[in-house]
Amino acid sequence: MLMIDYDLHCHSTVSDGLLTPTELVTRAAERGVKFLALTDHDDVDGLNEAANVSAQLGIGFINGVEISVTWRTHTLHIVGLRIDPLHPVLVEGLRRIRSGRRQRAELMAESLARSGIGGVLEGAFRYAKNPEIIGRTHFARYLVEAGHCKDVGSVFKRYLVKGKPGYVPHQWADLHDAIDWIRGAGGIAVLAHPGRYTAGRKAMGKPTMRELLQEFTEKGGKAIEVVTGSHTPPQYAEFARYATEFGLLSSCGSDYHGPGESYRDLGRLPDLPMECKPVWGEWGI
Ligand code: AMP
Ligand code: MN
Ligand code: MN
Ligand code: MN
Repeated sequence: MLMIDYDLHCHSTVSDGLLTPTELVTRAAERGVKFLALTDHDDVDGLNEAANVSAQLGIGFINGVEISVTWRTHTLHIVGLRIDPLHPVLVEGLRRIRSGRRQRAELMAESLARSGIGGVLEGAFRYAKNPEIIGRTHFARYLVEAGHCKDVGSVFKRYLVKGKPGYVPHQWADLHDAIDWIRGAGGIAVLAHPGRYTAGRKAMGKPTMRELLQEFTEKGGKAIEVVTGSHTPPQYAEFARYATEFGLLSSCGSDYHGPGESYRDLGRLPDLPMECKPVWGEWGI
């Protein structure tokens, strides 16, 4: 199978990744990535460092972000690529979403405490190098450390998803706002890992996915992730068809979070299906 040398989705310690921006870019370069986007959740603080190291190592760097969105009853992630990280509208929007995370963390800890698991807030914050982005992954790492589950994936299943004791509903950004911030900052909006929204217990059905893609496109969304760490090969084909149907470009990224924790390591992603128009097609890089 052909492999592409673009990886347009990954995380550093600025959100819930395990590697610093420098370590992440170094690993990407070692693994043959030629173009890398860092897309931390709701924060752009790692981009400067990552861009500098990328320049030193001779790889192309793309400024990115992954914005948490609430659409109807669903949490979605919208990746922004080629954003200006200093754009005031984007900066202010991201600051606003980050500001809700501490209270949500407190509620999650209270909820876990009611199920007999105490001390989680402090434990989780120890894993959050950037406390503004405290999130479920940090809780999961602490709960593994404390011996409640064998790995991060099991913690999510048992505690951190809808219907489980540590899950707290949260209002993230509006879909329209997130797209506007990204476009306002000169970037393009990409629907991240769509297959994650159609799988699982509280998943959206296919008609709802179509409504989402319709709305996303109408509001100025330009691309969807077709190849991503959490998609199976049949999902590459499925979302390639959606991309064609809705006239969207296709993106690919590992969604790497760190050694031992992710479905896929950085880079060496399978090629996009033939019919896809890659998101980088018009970038001239
Ligand atoms: P948050 O923004 O705090 O709700 O955390 C979302 C993050 O949790 C995602 O970006 C993933 O890194 C992680 N995550 C979500 N679901 C799972 C899962 N089932 N297994 C492992 N990690 C997950
Ligand atoms: Mn994450
Ligand atoms: Mn995501
Ligand atoms: Mn991600």
